[in-house]
Amino acid sequence: MTLAKAYAALEPKAPLEPFTFERRAPNEDDVVIDILYSGVCHSDIHQVRDEWFPGIYPQVPGHEIVGRVREVGAKVTKFKEGDAVGVGCFVDSCIHCQTRDVDTEQYRVDEIVVTYNGRDRDGLPTYGGYSDHIVVKEGYVLKVPEHLPLDGAAPLLCAGITLWSPLKHWNAGPGKKVAIVGLGGLGHMGVKLAHALGAEVTVLSQSLAKKDDALALGADHYYATNDAETFKTLAGSFDLIINTVSAPIDWNAYLGLLKIDGTMVLVGIPENPIPVHAFSLIMGRRSLAGSSIGSIKETQEMLDFCGAHNIVSDIELIDIQNINEAYERVIKSDVRYRFVIDIASLK
Ligand code: NAP
Ligand code: ZN
Repeated sequence: MTLAKAYAALEPKAPLEPFTFERRAPNEDDVVIDILYSGVCHSDIHQVRDEWFPGIYPQVPGHEIVGRVREVGAKVTKFKEGDAVGVGCFVDSCIHCQTRDVDTEQYRVDEIVVTYNGRDRDGLPTYGGYSDHIVVKEGYVLKVPEHLPLDGAAPLLCAGITLWSPLKHWNAGPGKKVAIVGLGGLGHMGVKLAHALGAEVTVLSQSLAKKDDALALGADHYYATNDAETFKTLAGSFDLIINTVSAPIDWNAYLGLLKIDGTMVLVGIPENPIPVHAFSLIMGRRSLAGSSIGSIKETQEMLDFCGAHNIVSDIELIDIQNINEAYERVIKSDVRYRFVIDIASLK
């Protein structure tokens, strides 16, 4: 076992503070990773504040992890000391299955071990990336293209894959009109990825404040949702809407922006059930769908695509001592466009 330095919430809704804990000794199929950067996902805030379900405490958040391999177990073949690697939202899957479901493992909720706020196969709590190192089975470690800036690459491990997976599943590409609702951590990755896939991309943001940024990120169009005219102008426009917002919004108004047979995919996770009128779906054979992160296989595909297209997240790099202030800014939609913790500040 090795002692890990970290930041944790010691109880629900508590601010994060310094914390130390033991990482398990590596098994022969494990990779030990010195963490360099850890992205700050809005899901970290939902979870340390118990907004979805009662969490496990102390809780060390962080599932957008990039680092370098410190050592590998005897049976590890894909990685060697010094490699740039990533870890996303889960560190094991199919724990009761004969064979691993490589395509949809993330949906086997009783079978995956989440990177933090979960329990490992041994029943012990998992601790995430706001820490100086992590021990992960080889099959759940991603190769990060070496030429990408590693701080900007960290958010690909959650924000990137969470938008990539639905964009690919619903065939975003040339000839498709795609709207991204909410230009935050997930949303700005959606713009970059949908644009690189060849889709016509519209950003729907609360105000005009982020318009210049959105166009620079690759959006073709930008509309403010605090202007009622937006919903009239864009009625029936989109093949695909990806909704990243977790606050209460008028779901029916957004569904009205879909073409016949269009789909709105929820990736944002509101605390409360969402009110949807049947007519919003029926009058247009529209679909309302959801999507959760992605498999390790498609996460690697996304990283390789980002490597080929030089796509990383736009980030604000912070010291871990500023994490509580960063959370407040995320809640106010005041981040351009992802906070990433420089783990060197922990040492
Ligand atoms: P974020 O950076 O806070 O972005 C959310 C964006 O939503 C904000 O930037 C803002 O964009 C918009 N927004 C905020 N409050 C709003 C309001 N009251 N009305 C309308 N729009 C509002 O968060 P994130 O890290 O991208 O995460 C977004 C959500 O996705 C969270 O619920 C998170 O837990 C969830 N998530 C889901 C998955 C998955 O697998 N499905 C994975 C990761 C995260 P504008 O300023 O442009 O309006
Ligand atoms: Zn996340």
